[in-house]
Amino acid sequence: MNEVEVALGDRSYSVHIGPGARSLLPGIIAGLGARRAAVVSARPTGWLPDLGVPSLELPFRDGESDKRLTQVERLCRRFARFGLTRSDVVVSCGGGTTTDVAGLAAALYHRGVPVVHLPTSLLAQVDASVGGKTAVNLPEGKNLVGAFWQPSAVLCDTDFLDTLPRREWLNGYGEIARCHFIGAGDLRGLPALDQIVASVTLKASLVSADEHDRGLRHLLNYGHTLGHALERATDFSLRHGEAVGIGTVFAGRLAGALGRIGQARVDEHGEVVAGYGLATTIPAGLDPARLVELMRSDKKALHGLSFVLDGPQGPELVEVPESVVLDTLAQT
Ligand code: NAD
Repeated sequence: MNEVEVALGDRSYSVHIGPGARSLLPGIIAGLGARRAAVVSARPTGWLPDLGVPSLELPFRDGESDKRLTQVERLCRRFARFGLTRSDVVVSCGGGTTTDVAGLAAALYHRGVPVVHLPTSLLAQVDASVGGKTAVNLPEGKNLVGAFWQPSAVLCDTDFLDTLPRREWLNGYGEIARCHFIGAGDLRGLPALDQIVASVTLKASLVSADEHDRGLRHLLNYGHTLGHALERATDFSLRHGEAVGIGTVFAGRLAGALGRIGQARVDEHGEVVAGYGLATTIPAGLDPARLVELMRSDKKALHGLSFVLDGPQGPELVEVPESVVLDTLAQT
């Protein structure tokens, strides 16, 4: 079993990655000293082992439409009726939407109860379940209400992925592809287990250095400025990772247009993204002016149009003039 530590002082925790990782759950719960557990799960009951403590099953449904405050309230009310205390534990099992909602409920209930995540999608294993960001959507936008709440452990059981549809593999590959340009090196062609370990190791190092996303953690947004805009412009018909893949190719082109990297490195962006089976071009029919408008309103864009771009000193957050963005969009 692979173990990656997210080093955060007395809130440090391990991410266990490998086949059968779920079997560690009873030992982790015992180690926390929890006397009962609330299990928020989008997968069938039989997917989790016996927890060794009385538990409350709270079936959940993955997907953005249930990632909202009313679900957080519903979960917290069930925790209360079950008698969950601050020394008990919440367990989440599902895609990134489920780990985000259960994580926020755990952050808020009694001002914080321990949570253990068991992510079941590739995207949730390589990204969403690690790092302590939890959030739900509002009608006004995605992830607008949330909290930082680090889990007590994350169990990435790669056996969960056996039933994952092809499109959800691609969704996760988008996040793995962007890791190529922010320090993970070339993960193409490696077994999924090694890709997950490398992506989590990279994320753990950035989270340890910048837990609250004030600087270095921004690097994880490589490919995301255009990625988020594409998701919104296509009404979320593109999966997040698919949009990030195109955003990654675009980030390479933008860095090239600004003279930050040479043509070979620009081309590498397209090769890497295509190598994961992802699209590299913007879907036809999208209005560039609309994409620029959406990129300007990205909540990560502090001022104007900002992108994490590769360069001679490695990747960093860069403000880019609108004219360069529009010219580069025309070629992507
Ligand atoms: P998701 O939770 O909607 O799951 C994607 C799809 O895969 C769903 O249809 C789900 O039912 C299915 N699925 C999941 N596991 C499965 C399995 N083992 N077998 C078969 N089907 C399975 O979406 P996601 O891509 O997992 O996560 C996306 C969410 O994660 C977004 O809401 C995003 O904002 C969030 N996110 C959070 C962070 C963070 O740091 N907190 C980081 C990245 C993404």
